[in-house]
Amino acid sequence: MTKPTALCVYCGSSGDVDNRYRQAAIDLGRTMAERGVTLVYGGGRVGLMGLLAEACHAAGGNVVGIIPEFLERAEIGEVEQSVIGELMVVATMHEQKQLMADLSDGFVVLPGGFGTLDEFFEILTWRQLGLHDKPIYLLDCAGYWQKLTDLLNHLLDQKFARPATRRLWDKADTVTGLFDALDALPEVEGPNLTVLG
Ligand code: AMP
Repeated sequence: MTKPTALCVYCGSSGDVDNRYRQAAIDLGRTMAERGVTLVYGGGRVGLMGLLAEACHAAGGNVVGIIPEFLERAEIGEVEQSVIGELMVVATMHEQKQLMADLSDGFVVLPGGFGTLDEFFEILTWRQLGLHDKPIYLLDCAGYWQKLTDLLNHLLDQKFARPATRRLWDKADTVTGLFDALDALPEVEGPNLTVLG
């Protein structure tokens, strides 16, 4: 696995949330720009998604948003229409998720709701099934993902997930910790795909 140059970030479309989550989105966007890492995300201009993309773009970063047509239409009139970076409009959510995964070489999960959890579990499942072997990080800002981590450990304890699947995701408490972990990733030539399901 080579060091990620494009990271896909999943995060909440809600903005009326604890300021620590908002700040984490801004810090992540800015840090990605500073490190020359392309941001691939769901294309929305609302909530943490908008803060993240704006921060990355404002700091000179490369932003690629991928949005399904119906969500793009829903956002028109709701938020200012200026496009942040490059916006790709696709037909369905399945296409959105596939393209976000294809264009990235790692995944970061900021605080979010149902959509963010759906994206996390899908990309985790794809890795379990050997469809990719790209790193997945929960950005556990202010302990937001502690209950999810407890649930994941429960699945392992109860043997609905195999012990080997524990390596499929990792956790970082801060944006700095996330990049320290990414920097520490071993350089491996070519894909290392194993079915763990
Ligand atoms: P949620 O956590 O339910 O707010 O959903 C956020 C996730 O779902 C994001 O990572 C997006 O990829 C996707 N998503 C949800 N709402 C939108 C939106 N308005 N525009 C684009 N993507 C969205």
